[in-house]
Amino acid sequence: MESSTAETARPAPVFTTYSPATGEPVAEHPAHGPAEVSRAVDGVRAVQAGWAALPASRRRDHLLRWKKALATELDTVARTIAEETGKPAGDAALEVVLTLEHLAWAARNAGRVLRRRKVSTGLFTVHQRASLVHRPLGVVGVIGPWNYPLYTPMGSIGYALAAGNGVVFKPSELTPGTGVLLARLFNDAVPGHAGLLTTVTGAASTGDALARSGVDKLAFTGSPGTARKVMAVCAETLTPFLAECGGKDAVIVTADADLSAAADAIVWGALSNAGQTCAGVERVYAVREIHAELCERVVERAKALPTGAGADAAYGPMTLAGQVAVVERHVTGAVSAGGRALLGGPGSVRAPYVEPVVLSDVPEDAAAMTEETFGPVVAINAVADVDEAVERANASRYALGAAVFCGGGRAGAAIAARLRAGAVSVNSVLGFAAVPALPFGGSGDSGFGRIHGEEGLRAFTSVQSTTVQRFTPPIALTSFDVPAATRERAVRLAQSLHRRR
Ligand code: NAD
Repeated sequence: MESSTAETARPAPVFTTYSPATGEPVAEHPAHGPAEVSRAVDGVRAVQAGWAALPASRRRDHLLRWKKALATELDTVARTIAEETGKPAGDAALEVVLTLEHLAWAARNAGRVLRRRKVSTGLFTVHQRASLVHRPLGVVGVIGPWNYPLYTPMGSIGYALAAGNGVVFKPSELTPGTGVLLARLFNDAVPGHAGLLTTVTGAASTGDALARSGVDKLAFTGSPGTARKVMAVCAETLTPFLAECGGKDAVIVTADADLSAAADAIVWGALSNAGQTCAGVERVYAVREIHAELCERVVERAKALPTGAGADAAYGPMTLAGQVAVVERHVTGAVSAGGRALLGGPGSVRAPYVEPVVLSDVPEDAAAMTEETFGPVVAINAVADVDEAVERANASRYALGAAVFCGGGRAGAAIAARLRAGAVSVNSVLGFAAVPALPFGGSGDSGFGRIHGEEGLRAFTSVQSTTVQRFTPPIALTSFDVPAATRERAVRLAQSLHRRR
């Protein structure tokens, strides 16, 4: 465990992480079992009350110190991310920058968003002063994925800490070093509250132990299949659960869109991080008039990207070796179902560096259109009009992000409003992910609940409602002493008022 001083009674067995780029070992980490996880939760619980008792401004200052430490160690953190995921150092650095933006926002806004606020009372409660306050839950468990091993879990960790909770973090078994470093930097930067963020390492069984450990909420990011398993475990103890899962994001391109900008964004949205982005671009619906030109532009740009192991590569290897088989199956299935491979194709999908694949005319029921591919593949289908584009974009069991490319921002926003997606970018891709004030999350197989923004802070709180009686009311309806006739008059008064409108 990477916490303050927690030691295990008997050393846990260790597991090794490997570089997806070279296959060389990166590091060894303990595979924590239920006993260690339980000790971690107890340890965090022991210090959480002191953290929750701080004025919001003190928590803000501590979190900003942690942010400063992360910024100071940006290169080290980015190097760890790059080693574990294989992504280019520049991409890893960008991930740290995005994380810093979110942490700063959560730290600076938690006090305002969660503080006690008054609410108005009603006709029969004028004698009450009513207010509500958002209080921390206690200890939050966070289970993270490997694709953005810092940015993604920090959408829960940073916001949960800002809301006054402690956190036990279980990073992906592919990227434990990033999680260990994160907790170490917290403990160094905020020594007075060391152990408030504790990282436990291991694979599924460590995550399962965390789900069973009695945490006050479990925030999960990963695939919908795993989310179902973890949620079933949480259901046994009614542990609240938040699920941030996969996506099959669509981009709609209208006839009057700037095709150069659209092609540029589609290529980046589909291929950056080797397509291993939950809200990455996987489907494009372009109106028929511009479909051929858009395809040409996308292929032209994708073809020109430096790929492979070089330092200038646009993206790195597939982080999860097993995902290559999924990508292969989707591409082969799409082509054998009548889809056209405009760039790459069934024979081109090889581990660990998968060359870009651009498909077109893929039947809507092919796996490449219905399942998360999570690889550098994009399918661009033609549609008759915007209505058909919206219909197809919405016909997915996923509903995470989406994008619209359109001549006018207002028209784009009108199309966005018709999309079944948790977040939509108009004339850019993934624009929402970089705005900390915007909540992020989906529905359907993309999960439920929100991280980021005000909703993301409230997600790690429980609300307490309070009334304080200011004076004894002339008609005290909550007393057995009220004469029946007075009660009757009050009921009739309410009835006549509510009948009006
Ligand atoms: P995964 O579901 O395989 O694993 C996620 C985490 O769950 C890992 O830490 C893993 O060790 C743990 N886990 C696995 N089995 C478990 C079990 N039975 N009990 C408890 N924990 C268990 O997902 P992954 O491959 O790490 O990540 C990729 C997926 O994550 C993709 O579907 C991607 O779209 C999604 N994702 C979503 C978001 C989002 O914010 N919506 C962000 C990033 C990634």
